[in-house]
Amino acid sequence: MKEYVDIIASETPALFYVFALLFGIAVGSFLNVCIFRIPKKESIVVVPSHCMSCGKKLKWWELVPVFSYIFLRGKCSGCKAKISPQYCIVELSNGLLWALVYFVKGAQVDTILIQLLVSALLVIGVIDARTGEIPFPIVIFIGVLGAIRAIFHHEAWLDLLLGPVVMFVLFTVLVFFNAMGGGDLKLCTAMGLFLGLKLCFLGLIIGCIIGSIIHVSLMIFKKAGRELKFGPYLGIGFTVSALWGADMWAWYMDKFFNF
Ligand SMILES: [Zn+2]
Repeated sequence: MKEYVDIIASETPALFYVFALLFGIAVGSFLNVCIFRIPKKESIVVVPSHCMSCGKKLKWWELVPVFSYIFLRGKCSGCKAKISPQYCIVELSNGLLWALVYFVKGAQVDTILIQLLVSALLVIGVIDARTGEIPFPIVIFIGVLGAIRAIFHHEAWLDLLLGPVVMFVLFTVLVFFNAMGGGDLKLCTAMGLFLGLKLCFLGLIIGCIIGSIIHVSLMIFKKAGRELKFGPYLGIGFTVSALWGADMWAWYMDKFFNF
């Protein structure tokens, strides 16, 4: 099966990128449903797609990702209420991220798991930025992905076992001193299982660096509040670590511990 996928991928590489992009965009439109409905505790499967302003049920041609937004010129066909450009941005971002994961990781099981992970982190990042909450069902989803990934990487069992344990202990202390929220604790524990201790720690550091740079700039230039919503930055840090963390770790060890 693996050889078969490799042959197709090496002979028609462009096709695979287009496929990853389009599939990512389609999944992105489901992510929008999660982003708007999970904080309101609405069902993500049962309730049909509807306008947020007038409740008009959307026809199939109003549900085509990206294209419908352009075709409807960003307005509901019923009440003419503006549709948030966030729909389009989330769909496109997810499509580009899925193509990027395929570009970095190639045709393997890990690619699909990491694609699902970055989608989950995208949902968490947007919901945290909007509401200040990290949705627990998505954290559980990441934990399940991590458990599946552990089956394929059982040789790294110690790292994968230490990941959630160390993250849980570290964040329990941080939450105790009010430096982090309970949502961050749950997310980082699940990420510890997915990435293992080394890469999770690396992702955490990257997230902290990017988060402090952006947050301090926002506080200075945009007069943003002191309170930091950490979810989006953790999402970026963990995504970078999942894609390039192993290479970064190897480079660092080689540079500083191999004379
Ligand atoms: Zn409407």
